[in-house]
Parts: sequence; C-alpha cells; structure tokens
Amino acid sequence: MIIHVAVTLKEIFRLGRNYRWQRPKCCPRCHCFKVWGHGYHDTFFEGYESAIPLKRWRCPQCGCVICYRPKSHFCRFQTPIKTIRSILFSRLQCGRWPSGFVRCRAGHWLRSLKRRVVARLGNTWQGGLLAAFDYFMRQGQIPVSRSI
Ligand SMILES: [Zn+2]
Repeated sequence: MIIHVAVTLKEIFRLGRNYRWQRPKCCPRCHCFKVWGHGYHDTFFEGYESAIPLKRWRCPQCGCVICYRPKSHFCRFQTPIKTIRSILFSRLQCGRWPSGFVRCRAGHWLRSLKRRVVARLGNTWQGGLLAAFDYFMRQGQIPVSRSI
C-alpha cells in the first residue's frame, strides 16, 4: 500500500537512512496501532544522481506493507508533479517545449493526457487539457499515466 507523505526529497537525499521518518499512526488496512519499520526502497528521482531511500513499514497484524512516497511526485514518476504541469503548460500556451528538457518524456505525458481526456471525458470536453489535468488530480488520478 502506498501512502503519499509531505517530505522534502532534498532533505532525505542529504540524510539518507538517517532521515527521521514519521511513523504511520496506524495500519491503513486493519487500523492496528503498531506498525514496524520494514527497510527502505531505493528510488530514483529527477535531479538526483543516486537513489533516495524511501521508508517502508509493515503491519505485524495483517502483514500489510506500507511504502512511503513523496506527495510531490506521482507513483512511478521521477519528475515532480509541479514540473510536469508547468512543462505541459508552456507547451500548450506557447506551442513549443521549454528548452533544456527531455522532450520525448514530455511528449509521452502529453499523449497520455490527451488519451485520458478522450477516454474519460469524451470528445466533447471543452475545458482544455490543463483544466483536465487539474480535474484528474482532484479525482486522485495520474493525469499523465499511460494506463487509462
Ligand atoms: Zn494491518
């Protein structure tokens, strides 16, 4: 089970495994109050040359493994949500990609967003792609995920 937590990646990167994670108050599945540390998951993020250890927890009662992920990132994405949105924003506003960025990755995001809009909101959606991005966010979906 993944829980998004408000953390500063830079701080975790600096401290590594010495970073003091806040233990979950209870197991999200069975609500047992004792959750144990369960190692780390090394995860790569854009802008950091080495992996960042993200804390995992395990519930002794139901066996649920809880993985922490930074709130600033979608699951399985190395680029912060804010950056993805602002890159798509400049592409849609100015008609070209901002310089100094991995264009093919951003192209995937844009195609995925367009596909999701058609699949979920239909061809008649008039709100524009950025409004759709924000709409999917509010729905708890990943706007640029390849799976619809
Ligand atoms: Zn549990």
